Amino acid sequence: MTNTPSPGDRDANEQDQFLTILSREDALARFEAGLFPRAIASEMRPLAEALGCALAEDVVAPIDVPPFDRSNVDGFAVRSADLAAAGEASPVRVMLNDEVITCGTAPTRPVLSGTATPIATGGPVPRGADAVVMVEHTQLAGPRAVEIRRAASPGQFVSYAGSDIARGEALLRAGTVIGSREIGMLAACGIAQVTVARRPRVAVISTGDELVQPGQPLPPAAIYDTNGAIVAAAVNENGGEAVFLGAVADDEEQLEAVMRKALEASDMLVLSGGTSKGAGDVSHRIIGRLGKPGIIAHGVALKPGKPLCLAVCDGKPVIILPGFPTSAMFTFHDMIVPVLRRMAGLPPRSDAKVNARVPVRIASELGRTEFVMVSLVEGADGLIAYPTGKGSGAITSFAQADGFLRIDALADQMPAGSEAEVTLFTPHVRVPDLVIVGSHCTGLDLVTAPLAHAGLVVRSIAVGSLGGLAAAKRGECDFAPIHLFDEKTGTYNTPYLSDGLELVPGWRRMQGIVFRKGDRRFEGLSAEDAVRAALADPACIMVNRNQGAGTRILIDRLLGGARPDGYWNQPRSHNAVAAAVAQHRADWGMTIAPVAHASNLGFIPFAEEHYDFALVKARKQRPAVQAFLNALASDEGRAALAQAGFRPA
Ligand code: AMP
Ligand code: MG
Repeated sequence: MTNTPSPGDRDANEQDQFLTILSREDALARFEAGLFPRAIASEMRPLAEALGCALAEDVVAPIDVPPFDRSNVDGFAVRSADLAAAGEASPVRVMLNDEVITCGTAPTRPVLSGTATPIATGGPVPRGADAVVMVEHTQLAGPRAVEIRRAASPGQFVSYAGSDIARGEALLRAGTVIGSREIGMLAACGIAQVTVARRPRVAVISTGDELVQPGQPLPPAAIYDTNGAIVAAAVNENGGEAVFLGAVADDEEQLEAVMRKALEASDMLVLSGGTSKGAGDVSHRIIGRLGKPGIIAHGVALKPGKPLCLAVCDGKPVIILPGFPTSAMFTFHDMIVPVLRRMAGLPPRSDAKVNARVPVRIASELGRTEFVMVSLVEGADGLIAYPTGKGSGAITSFAQADGFLRIDALADQMPAGSEAEVTLFTPHVRVPDLVIVGSHCTGLDLVTAPLAHAGLVVRSIAVGSLGGLAAAKRGECDFAPIHLFDEKTGTYNTPYLSDGLELVPGWRRMQGIVFRKGDRRFEGLSAEDAVRAALADPACIMVNRNQGAGTRILIDRLLGGARPDGYWNQPRSHNAVAAAVAQHRADWGMTIAPVAHASNLGFIPFAEEHYDFALVKARKQRPAVQAFLNALASDEGRAALAQAGFRPA
């Protein structure tokens, strides 16, 4: 759709949300058309503060570099013609002039025919001399003479004045981004300050009643302001000067006052949160009153990032990023960074890209350009990109990811086995030394800690036991942690192995009932009795686990077909179960003992589960795999596991 939303649009009802969604390309084109061309402001900066800035004008060399003919070696300044006959067997003797040219000493005596002047590396070559011979090819012959055993060509070991940089030469062109090399060139010419494009001042505001700044205590239902830190850092990374103004509550009057003041004092305003067109979302309503033309795009066909709002107020860009931190980060990099860099006089970003194969199908929403974060691992024939996203709210995906791939708006999926281009978050790929794909367990971090401390890169990708087994069979990981119970044999894991895989015993995890300490309904009972007591109390609420989790099988066995209140609350992790009970959203659930103890909850043991490793035999001899096996078997590793509540096998 290409309708332009008008700034005055009001939603008739909730269904109107984002009816005028623009494609990513359309939105960016309109945003840029509203901002460019524009004059780029410039300022003088001392050299030391110009790092990363773009030069606003050409810089012409004011002097020659080097400023004089300079010796490149320690030796003697000579007339080359004197040494035409010199050789190992026929040294030529010349008289020494009565001075020594060290660095910083201007010569006072000429080098006449038949003489030489001792000179140090960096010393100015005296009048009359046209070459320097190295001290290694000479021998002193008394206090006043030297014997030279090599002929010299004219200009030998001399850097002529201006040979590096000539006075009047264009040293650096406007638009050049100043790095340490450019600073070196400028310093060599004696230039102490340069005219650079002024860094745009970018005011950064977070919005939301729930936000608390890092460092402050976290009240119930509050979350830490993540976007403020992300956006300020990303602004500074891309040529801007961020001014972070903190988090403002969702209050139209208060927010308008802060936005007005911020916009007056800066070149750009970036907010985050409150961009949905819901009742509590007020910032986009304020924008229309801040300047013309106002909102240019509200709703862009991006995933994550649909609620992005782009505006121009009297020539200044005003942006509201989506609230979810990963959405805020992606939309900022994709849509705002190009504009910011242009305003800062910087060239577009040139992110490194690599090709990789996608091992699993990635579903995608038709009509939206989708960004998918991926972890890179080394496969048998090239790089493999595993999606790491946990949904748009997950900030930790960034830490796990090496980069992202883009799924076109017109595609509804990326099929398994596709080749994709991955944009890297860092300049180079660093493939991990050890790749673990499968079920995650907090015990894993305890075992891999010594490897990480030894400088090995360990990548653990949580895809569940079955996903891990599939990856291990395809040879995409070193091993897959699994905890799969086989009903037929009544054993764990071994029945699931196939050719090429070998079982390495890991540890045992006690599964059991968690409840708040002191809850009389459960205190002192067996797991079976505790569940019976829970089912007998209609006010009692449980928390379940997701279908397919090993824990879920145990819960269903205990419930024997009952569906008590809370049964449909099915989080995907042990920690979420503990949090639900600790926060009184549920009264009981099932989790592993270490998680219950870490949350200071009561725990009734029920069944011990085997958490083992399906090792890819072909990779067994790799040093990182050996290091892992050693750490697993070591006394320290076993003690750390036991200390955390696991029972090493
Ligand atoms: P909103 O668009 O304001 O409804 O926000 C969408 C989601 O992002 C909500 O879960 C917010 O709590 C969250 N969110 C908004 N702003 C921030 C922020 N600055 N840091 C972390 N999360 C945020
Ligand atoms: Mg909000």
